[in-house]
Amino acid sequence: MIHHGDMPVREAILHTSATPFAWAEGKTNAAMLAEIRRWHVEDNGWRDIGYHRVVMPDGAVMIGRSIYEPGAHVAGRNTGTIGICMVGPGSPIGKPEDHYTDAQLAAVRAYLAELAKLTELRVVSGHNDHAARECPGFRVRSADWLP
Ligand SMILES: [Zn+2]
Repeated sequence: MIHHGDMPVREAILHTSATPFAWAEGKTNAAMLAEIRRWHVEDNGWRDIGYHRVVMPDGAVMIGRSIYEPGAHVAGRNTGTIGICMVGPGSPIGKPEDHYTDAQLAAVRAYLAELAKLTELRVVSGHNDHAARECPGFRVRSADWLP
């Protein structure tokens, strides 16, 4: 089972890229991933992309930071958590389908099922459970997302 140092990974935290639908139009998944990484590395000064996975509108699950190391996606909660970003607007607070495609939401569920085999996954939360933000754009009920 995957740990971050001494801390077992027990939680996945969902995020939004906070990008309008038009941002994804005409871009390859690789280009979108590269752009998000550039924001984190060049704009934020981090050593790598902060998310562990980025889930694209077509359902592709792109690999960000290694799940064997803490990410940089939620202040004070990066150790023992996996950050999953969904590309979409993520605002205002609504339903998942308001911001993300069916393929994308299915891919997140499938990824969480895989993650549950590698970790002691117990909780799926949203960034908005840990900070005064709208991200990922809906209220995440853990039971709805746990495999
Ligand atoms: Zn977030």
